[in-house]
Amino acid sequence: MRIDCNHVWEHISAYIDNDVDPAVRADIDRHLETCEICSAVLDSTRNVVILMADNRVFELPAGFSDRLHAHIDREIQS
Ligand SMILES: [Zn+2]
Repeated sequence: MRIDCNHVWEHISAYIDNDVDPAVRADIDRHLETCEICSAVLDSTRNVVILMADNRVFELPAGFSDRLHAHIDREIQS
């Protein structure tokens, strides 16, 4: 089955998360082989996802979450 770009983008986050139906995945792979636009956008989308994942791991300096919880506790008590 031939799919168009919109079809790819409907499934793209599941595709990146490896959470897509194998048949859909095969269709997307086939589309990506022939569509420069989608493969370029997929590359940058992947980079964004990786950056977001990195931020989630590294955004909190040591002790930050303790201070944050202390702050939240104060807010709740006041
Ligand atoms: Zn495309």
